[in-house]
Amino acid sequence: MSIGDIIYSYLPAKRKQTPSGWTKFNAVCCHHNGTSADTRQRGGMIRNADGVSYHCFNCGYKASYQPGRHLTRKMRQLLQWMGAPDDVITKLSLEALKIESDERALEAVSLPTFEEKQLPEGAQPLSKWLEIYDDAIGEFLNPIIDYVSSRSLDPLNENFYWSPSSGFEDRLIIPFKYNGAIVGNTARKIGEGKPKYISEQTPGYVFNLDSQKQNREFVIVCEGPFDALSVDGVAILGAEIMDKQALLLNRLDRQVIVVPDRDPDGARTVEQAIDNGYSVSMPDWPEGVKDTNDAVIKLGKLSALYRIVTAAEDNALKIRLRAKQWF
Ligand SMILES: [Zn+2]
Repeated sequence: MSIGDIIYSYLPAKRKQTPSGWTKFNAVCCHHNGTSADTRQRGGMIRNADGVSYHCFNCGYKASYQPGRHLTRKMRQLLQWMGAPDDVITKLSLEALKIESDERALEAVSLPTFEEKQLPEGAQPLSKWLEIYDDAIGEFLNPIIDYVSSRSLDPLNENFYWSPSSGFEDRLIIPFKYNGAIVGNTARKIGEGKPKYISEQTPGYVFNLDSQKQNREFVIVCEGPFDALSVDGVAILGAEIMDKQALLLNRLDRQVIVVPDRDPDGARTVEQAIDNGYSVSMPDWPEGVKDTNDAVIKLGKLSALYRIVTAAEDNALKIRLRAKQWF
């Protein structure tokens, strides 16, 4: 028997089934919560996926269990009110913990790994170049520093590199770091000319994961590195959320807020975000803003961040409605 089966086995004998899948019975919670006892079968339990949810429509008590999660205090409390013996509740708690740790272990072994890669020859952080700055270096470095500043970013940020090697003199290099190692990079041309980007690709990589602070409750997912660095978020380096990337994002174990670019490809990103169960934020950006970095240039970091977080939506229907106006 699964944990859900066992929880169901303690439901009151007097109960009925609704067409929508709820099992209804006199709620067991209300008088414990200062509300008069339920006599109208306003307690309900329903199965979803492999888990169960309890909802009392009398006093409002809610509790749920999903495999891969621990047995919450509210669910243990509910079991007690339904008359489950303490030793059964303890056993269920331990079983839930075991399933949880098995799932984590499985996740850990399937996490992607990336090979270490070289940056263009002689590449060093801009901050290092500024220490040995002279006119010869300045000729190349000044436009790059101006460019970074024009994107409202700090040229001394540890993610900005430059290399004097041939073909890279007029490029800003951004390394792809993962667990401290360099696993790829992109080099953006400053000024006119093609190709705009020369990249050492790393499929499945998520940019700026290393900098995600433990104490943040959410992670902001953007398309490009400048967007990500503007709001201390991460970048999927394109409009597609790959499975490997989703694994890395999920492992952060926090709310994932996807901020698409405001272009046709962004609409695809939105659908992938919904598929992964992520929140999507499509804020009321000022006129002409097409991505997160633009927004930070126009509004400043705090204001842009505030708008992103407050516009985050996780209901698929509402996300799609919003997307219709936004793109
Ligand atoms: Zn109740």
